Amino acid sequence: MHSSDIIAAIATPPGRGGIGIIRISGNNLEEMAKQLLGSLPKPRYASLNYFLDQHHEVIDQGIAIYYAAPHSYTGEDVLELHGHGGPAVINLLLERCITLGARLAEPGEFTLRAYLNNKIDLVQAEGVADLIDASTTGAARCALRSLQGEFSEVIHELVRALTDMRIQIEAALDFPEEEIDWLEMSHLKMQLHQLHEKLQQVLVSSQRGNLLREGARIVLIGQPNVGKSSLLNRLAGDEVAIVTEIPGTTRDAIQQHIQIDSVPLHIIDTAGLRETEDIVEKLGIERTYAAVENADLVLLLVDSQNGLSEADQDLLKKLPAKLPVLIVFNKIDLLNQSAKIEDKNKYSIIYLSAKTGIGVDLLCEKILTLVGWHSHLAGEGLFMARQRHLHALDQAQNHLSTAITWASHGESLEVLAEELRLAQYALSTIVGEFSADDLLGEIFSKFCIGK
Ligand code: GDP
Repeated sequence: MHSSDIIAAIATPPGRGGIGIIRISGNNLEEMAKQLLGSLPKPRYASLNYFLDQHHEVIDQGIAIYYAAPHSYTGEDVLELHGHGGPAVINLLLERCITLGARLAEPGEFTLRAYLNNKIDLVQAEGVADLIDASTTGAARCALRSLQGEFSEVIHELVRALTDMRIQIEAALDFPEEEIDWLEMSHLKMQLHQLHEKLQQVLVSSQRGNLLREGARIVLIGQPNVGKSSLLNRLAGDEVAIVTEIPGTTRDAIQQHIQIDSVPLHIIDTAGLRETEDIVEKLGIERTYAAVENADLVLLLVDSQNGLSEADQDLLKKLPAKLPVLIVFNKIDLLNQSAKIEDKNKYSIIYLSAKTGIGVDLLCEKILTLVGWHSHLAGEGLFMARQRHLHALDQAQNHLSTAITWASHGESLEVLAEELRLAQYALSTIVGEFSADDLLGEIFSKFCIGK
């Protein structure tokens, strides 16, 4: 993984385009540049060049930009060839680079080298991939902030605070005769609480950012014919589920991806949940339960004309206790009712019509609140966190909580120091200070080629 041979890749998307870019990175590109361009271009200047084959015939004409190590994206010598964006010509140019000794870059290998050469840390590298993959403008803004190092800086700040505290404790441990006095201990406790609070804020911002990145899973459940497919179609704006008046038409879990206020939502319409002997439908029902287990929010649809049935009550009892549930009384148009929301103790209830669209805007707002999104925050101050970041922040928070408990019980400084060390370790894994090769492999393999 830590090789530094010459790598090359087409960095622009496949297909026809105005410009096609080939990116080359390695320890010494002088010889290759001479063969390809006649000479090594002046660093960081755009020069108009012929790109030559082995017989000195012109493959293409374009701009070459050379970045001398370490002042490049990867930290190595980098050469960029901006030619014409046609698949045939750009492939010829890539083949020429391979003949001259480069090998095809793996996905994300340029960024991996940037990371290994300390140009960026792991969070910034992930920010690069997230920016490219961002499906909403909010997610893109958030990813850019990670790429620019804002998230890393916050983590480094927390690590510095932890280090300071560890130094104080280690000093006390090294000179046991000078016992840590009451004043110092209360100061330490105060620092622990402040850090805990700060970490909590970072965790919340990261969870919201994670929502922008990964979206929330919303499952529509309810008896057949209550209007699940109609609501999914209404939210998605097109006909993705079959809507009929025969109960049990939606036999499979159908997923639709939508965005509300920049938040990606994966909405899953499930098979009707009635008891059935129909094998195909039974399969769908099993999938319903599987979908519910992984959901962030459940919408239980009810036909307003019939109200909450016994079967619905049973269904509610079967749902995981911590899962937020919104009960949707659909078809209010048939009763001439108006749209409204009622917040009860355990559930919220919304009245709407999937057919006419009345109340659907209220539903969208309520969905966002229930999945933990607050529109006034709209991407500001959020971190584009991945699951691994959330996990590490969570671990660090647990160790800090334990340290606080130990401190208040007057436990020995050794156990306190150990919890702080573990919290610091967890945080450091976020920016990649102790990253195993398999983690790097997993992160960088999801990049596109040429980045
Ligand atoms: P599902 O089995 O729960 O997916 O229900 P469908 O979406 O297939 O809807 C069943 C029937 O109810 C269809 O004829 C829909 O047109 C009708 N329907 C769904 N929502 C509404 C609504 O808000 N008002 C009225 N009047 N009919 C609706």
